[in-house]
Amino acid sequence: MVSNKTFEATKVVNINHYDISSALQTTLDFNKLIQNFSSKIAGMVAHSGYVYTNKEFGLEIKSGVFARQSRSYALKVEDKALGELKLLRSHKFDVADLELLETLLCCLIYPLKNASMYQQALKMAYTDPLTQTNNRSAFDDCIKREISLAARHSKHLAIIFLDIDHFKHINDQYGHDCGDVALSSVAKWIKEGLRTSDAVFRFGGEEFVIILSETDLVGAELVAERIRGAIENHTLSYNMQPISITASLGVSELRPNDTLETLVKRADGAMYKAKKGGRNQVVLAY
Ligand code: GH3
Ligand code: MG
Ligand code: MG
Repeated sequence: MVSNKTFEATKVVNINHYDISSALQTTLDFNKLIQNFSSKIAGMVAHSGYVYTNKEFGLEIKSGVFARQSRSYALKVEDKALGELKLLRSHKFDVADLELLETLLCCLIYPLKNASMYQQALKMAYTDPLTQTNNRSAFDDCIKREISLAARHSKHLAIIFLDIDHFKHINDQYGHDCGDVALSSVAKWIKEGLRTSDAVFRFGGEEFVIILSETDLVGAELVAERIRGAIENHTLSYNMQPISITASLGVSELRPNDTLETLVKRADGAMYKAKKGGRNQVVLAY
């Protein structure tokens, strides 16, 4: 049986579940929050597993054992959607179970709202507002993590350094606003050519870096060539004027003893060679 119900907290319910509330106030992490909630209520509303989904943050958190009986709630507060929580178990939820569960959910709503606001702020701090790609701070954090992961598990890791060709000319000829549109368009075309697990970062003014985990130099070359072709083949239309854009790309692969700086330096050097070689091309760092 699957039963769906919208659960909306319009007021704080004063109940004697302070230990649950205080346990939920110890974290702003969705995973831990739902896990804490599940374990705290387990003695009152028995369940064998849960699924929490949150579209805004692309989350699907699952735990425990799948069972036939389920009860799910679309959680909301003050019109803000906070995701959907589904509890699972093998035997039916009776009326008393559901009443208690709905009361207990009141303890979850506000901690969930705090987590949502915190994660939103974190996302904004790591996002470049113009291109909606990850920013430089996000790159520094992500590449350090990826380098240590790749080194620990002996996995490949490659990066692509991309610089738009003659971008100053676009600004000079069509204006800074057009330059901004060109930047966000290039960011969009780059994203279209990638897997969702690949991350794009705005590294500087008209420079982007793409991190390709579990990808070697040959694989990264294919991706870089696909991105180069996509940028070349799109025409930007600005105030009825068609504008062609190209980019130069450098690719490097993680080597033993590489640091963040040496890996980026090789990709940047390869990009520089692409500029010298006539632009609109991909160069690999060997
Ligand atoms: P090259 O092919 O050698 O890379 O030439 P280029 O003109 O792209 O390179 P250059 O480094 O001379 O110019 C980069 C330009 O990018 C200069 C700068 O004003 C512009 N720029 C940097 N950030 C932004 C931005 O956020 N918006 C706009 N519109 N322009 C930007
Ligand atoms: Mg540049
Ligand atoms: Mg440039």
